[in-house]
Amino acid sequence: MMQLSPIGFIRTPYQEKFAIPRQPGLVPSAIGEIHFQAPFDDVNCLRGIEQFSHLWLIFQFHQTLERGWTPLVRPPRLGGNRKLGVFATRSTHRPNGMGLSVVEVAGLTTRQGKPLLKVRGMDLLDGTPILDIKPYLPYADALPEAEAGFADAPPAIMEVVFTEQARRHLQEIRCQSTELEQLISEVLTQDPRPAYKQQNKQEEFGMRISGFNIRWQAEAGVNRVLSIEPAAT
Ligand code: SAM
Repeated sequence: MMQLSPIGFIRTPYQEKFAIPRQPGLVPSAIGEIHFQAPFDDVNCLRGIEQFSHLWLIFQFHQTLERGWTPLVRPPRLGGNRKLGVFATRSTHRPNGMGLSVVEVAGLTTRQGKPLLKVRGMDLLDGTPILDIKPYLPYADALPEAEAGFADAPPAIMEVVFTEQARRHLQEIRCQSTELEQLISEVLTQDPRPAYKQQNKQEEFGMRISGFNIRWQAEAGVNRVLSIEPAAT
């Protein structure tokens, strides 16, 4: 079979797998930038793409690829106990590690003559290899009557509160604090905790997004942001 070669890579705010939303569209303020690599960095490859509001990204779960796949997986939404066949889930541990996400187009520019495609709401780790891009065709791809078994609704959401200290940290950041506050709110609304941890009483968690370490306390339906500090590079 022909060797697949990535058409490029996506830069996203998600610098680690933990806390990335489970599907696209759940964190609309997250913006990604697709950098194309030769020979796919030809602006002609994108001619006409501006007619489409959304695109399918086909990509590879590169960070878990070497762990391989198993016929049965434990979907986090089922609490991590029940096993389902890998093809009955969107698990990242799958043959060839293929991912599929629909994203909103957020702009197309060129930098030194090379195309740069901005997208919104992706669920991809920073640096994920992109294998293909296709326009989203609502007449063919949107099937509201389709059945979706155990994954028939977005994950439950949580309230997000910023403590005094987190607010002080945001003020110290100044330049991009509004966008960062919005991004943190939307990510923590999605409750990134694994299902088996969601029963625990109070527990502290951390995530790294957009170059900042965020610490928060999860308790009874509320995520309380404790601190927002620049991550060591
Ligand atoms: N929408 C895609 C799909 O259905 O194929 C991805 C769904 S998968 C459940 C989303 C999760 O994949 C994210 O929450 C993150 O933990 C993980 N992920 C994202 N990018 C990845 C990468 N490059 N390598 C490994 N895991 C990744």
